[in-house]
Amino acid sequence: MIDEMYIRGVEVNYYFVCKTKLWLFSHNVNLERESDLVKLGKLVHKEFYQRDRKDVRIGPIAIDVVRKGNELEIQEVKKAKSMEKADVFQMLYYLFYLSNLGISAKGRITYPKSKEVLNVELDEEKLRDLEKILEEIDELKKNKEMPKPVRKKHCRKCAYFEFCFVG
Ligand code: SF4
Repeated sequence: MIDEMYIRGVEVNYYFVCKTKLWLFSHNVNLERESDLVKLGKLVHKEFYQRDRKDVRIGPIAIDVVRKGNELEIQEVKKAKSMEKADVFQMLYYLFYLSNLGISAKGRITYPKSKEVLNVELDEEKLRDLEKILEEIDELKKNKEMPKPVRKKHCRKCAYFEFCFVG
């Protein structure tokens, strides 16, 4: 059994985006703050949720929670649908994390650019997949060696691009 509670939501996302990125981020090689794309993401997020937004930070996760009647909904705004699986599992991790604390919630991912909304719920099958992924993330984080960078379509947009491929 691993201690999932120290894994950050963004690390679950990076597991799908790039294992090198996940390793660099989890070893505090944090160039993300310098990326224009990250700044843009934060701006989209801020603009979209000017009202009715509550930031909640619990341990390693930071989420937007909205109360809908008796239910809690976690909301995420993403720039593009190109990494949908990463977005979904990041949300599933938040739901899992909260359920471990005895809090039941649903997830909603919004893509303002394409005006699409994804509703996410944690069921048995997804829970099994998520637990496997969390174990792999745990192993990756503990590994002393960085996974070799493999060039992908989205590398150019990555804050670690120069680190991986220049110089
Ligand atoms: S530049 Fe590419 S290989 Fe390097 S961390 Fe980013 S996505 Fe991964």
